[in-house]
Amino acid sequence: MIIKLIILAGLGLCFGSFVNALTWRIHKKKDWVKERSVCTHCGHQLAAKDLVPVLSWVSLRGKCRYCARRISIQYPVVELAAALVFMASYAFWPVGLGNGQSVLLVTWLVCSIGLLALFIYDARWMLLPNKIIYPTFALAAIGQFIYLVGFAPDKPAFLIGWGLSILAASGLFWSLFVISQGRWIGYGDVRLGLITGTILHSPALSILMIFLASLMGSLAVLPLLLTGKKKLSAKLPYGPVLILAAFICLLFGQSIIDWYKNSFLS
Ligand SMILES: [Zn+2]
Repeated sequence: MIIKLIILAGLGLCFGSFVNALTWRIHKKKDWVKERSVCTHCGHQLAAKDLVPVLSWVSLRGKCRYCARRISIQYPVVELAAALVFMASYAFWPVGLGNGQSVLLVTWLVCSIGLLALFIYDARWMLLPNKIIYPTFALAAIGQFIYLVGFAPDKPAFLIGWGLSILAASGLFWSLFVISQGRWIGYGDVRLGLITGTILHSPALSILMIFLASLMGSLAVLPLLLTGKKKLSAKLPYGPVLILAAFICLLFGQSIIDWYKNSFLS
C-alpha cells in the first residue's frame, strides 16, 4: 500500500509537470511534443536540473536560474495537486479494485491529467480547449468500453447509465447555453460533460456533481460579489468547479447519496 502510494505520488508529480508544460504550450500555440522547455521570461532553454517537479522550484526559491525573474507558484502547486489526486484516487477508490475496477481506476488517472490541464487552462484563460477535451474524452470512452466489454456485470444497464450520465452532465448546460445564446456559460462546459459524464457513468452522480459545482461556485463568487470585485454579470470560469465536483463525486458521491437517503428519506 505504502509503496504503491509512493509510486503514484512520483507519477503524479511527473504528470503535473507535464500538465504545466502542456497548458502553456497550447496557450502559446507551440508544438508540445517537439519543443524543449524554456523559461517563459528570458526564453533560456531549461536543463534537466531545472525540471525536477517541486524540488527545482524550491531549490531556486521560485526564481529562474538564468534571468532571476519569478517562476509562478502555479508550477509546484499543480505538480503537488496531481500527486495528491493520484494518491487520493487510489486510497479512496469507493469499491475494491477487483472485477475490472482497476481498469476504471487507471482510466480515471489518465483522464485526471487532462482534467487538471482543463482546470488550469479555464482558471487562467477562461477557456476549455478542444485540443484537451476531445483526447481526454476519447481516453475516458476507451477505458469505459474496455470495462463494458470485459467486466460489466449488466451490459445494457451500464450502457444506459453511461448515456443518461452524459445527458445529465451536459444536458443542463446545453439548455442554459441555448436559452442564453452563450452569454451565461460557454460551450466548453457542455463538452466537458462528455468527460465527466463518462467517468461518473451514473446519472445520479452526474446530477450530484452539478449540484456540488453550483454550490461551490456560489460560495467562491459570493465574497467577490460582496466586496464589489466582480459584478453579477461578470463571466467566471465554471470548468474548475465542475472538475473539482466530478473528482469529489467519483470518490465520495455514492457515500454522500447513501448518507442523504439514510438521513432524510428513511
Ligand atoms: Zn529566465
